[in-house]
Amino acid sequence: MTDIRAILRARLDAAVGGEQVLSDPAAVEPYVSDWRGRYHGRALAVVRPGSTEQVAAVVRVCADLGVPMVPQGGNTGQCGGATPDDRGNAIVVSLARMNRVRAVDSANATLTVEAGMPLAMVQQAAAAEGLMFPLSLAAEGSCSIGGNLSTNAGGHAVLRFGNTRDLVLGIEVVLADGRIWDGLRGLRKDNTGYDLKQLFVGAEGTLGIITAAVLKLFPAPAHRATALAALANPLARRYKELVIKETHRTDTSSGKEIRVVQANPEAAAKELAPLIADGNQAAATLGHIRYRRSVERLSAGLAEN
Ligand SMILES: Cc1cc2nc3c(=O)[nH]c(=O)nc-3n(C[C@H](O)[C@H](O)[C@H](O)COP(=O)(O)OP(=O)(O)OC[C@H]3O[C@@H](n4cnc5c(N)ncnc54)[C@H](O)[C@@H]3O)c2cc1C
Repeated sequence: MTDIRAILRARLDAAVGGEQVLSDPAAVEPYVSDWRGRYHGRALAVVRPGSTEQVAAVVRVCADLGVPMVPQGGNTGQCGGATPDDRGNAIVVSLARMNRVRAVDSANATLTVEAGMPLAMVQQAAAAEGLMFPLSLAAEGSCSIGGNLSTNAGGHAVLRFGNTRDLVLGIEVVLADGRIWDGLRGLRKDNTGYDLKQLFVGAEGTLGIITAAVLKLFPAPAHRATALAALANPLARRYKELVIKETHRTDTSSGKEIRVVQANPEAAAKELAPLIADGNQAAATLGHIRYRRSVERLSAGLAEN
């Protein structure tokens, strides 16, 4: 172990407690690869602070020693932002232990939570108040609200409720030098100056580590209904134009059903007319072949649908 590593280890131990500083390769491994196995990196250590003050202490140590930090929530991101690079000179700061509800204000419909809280737990905390936090995505059992904010996640209700950016009223952040910026406000009509919190949303941890957020809640839906919207298949329309008759027969050797289509001669003549009018026999023959193939492709496409 070099001096800097020993110094770093001792100071991180003092900041968060030795058992929350992981350096054993097997313990570190899940934090240095992404869930799809597309990105692999190395880290000096994984640090798991349990409070904002501990995050700030870790950041001060790293700022002092010039050690890069990679914040990590649920490690479900798709772009490798939560994976350290392969130089092995960084630490991963996991927010997983910071998963508490700090405050619920049902009159103002807001929820203040720590950044490492899994999204599904945020939804449950809102539901317990008869309210709803509308961000929802397939990774919600694993991803954290801090990660959702840092990636400005959309999810499947994004068209109705907006990105995570639209669902936050305030945040608390540890800045790059270890100072804590307390922007935990739940005021809905806040028209004071710059909206600094939005700088940190979608920033992927480049400007600071989000440690808590005030989230907007909404009335829970009173009823749910499922609708199936069927759209006209453009393939079907084109097929109808080109095909005059369709029959089926069974192939004797394979036993498979085969679709036999008869092209509409009028549509064919219309499509091929410019080529035939040119007197270009080769082009007309090629046109015939292309026309037949296009009917076959349409037929196959419809069969797949
Ligand atoms: C099955 C699946 C479905 C998904 N569906 C959607 C979808 O519908 N819409 C969508 O937008 N995305 C979707 N995603 C990707 C989505 O962005 C992430 O799942 C989620 O938002 C990331 O949260 P996380 O806690 O896992 O963050 P991580 O993967 O841990 O980190 C993501 C980035 O944020 C940074 N970061 C994490 N926590 C903090 C913090 N506290 N402070 C500062 N920086 C931090 C990391 O350094 C990294 O750059 C999906 C992912 C999966 C696996």
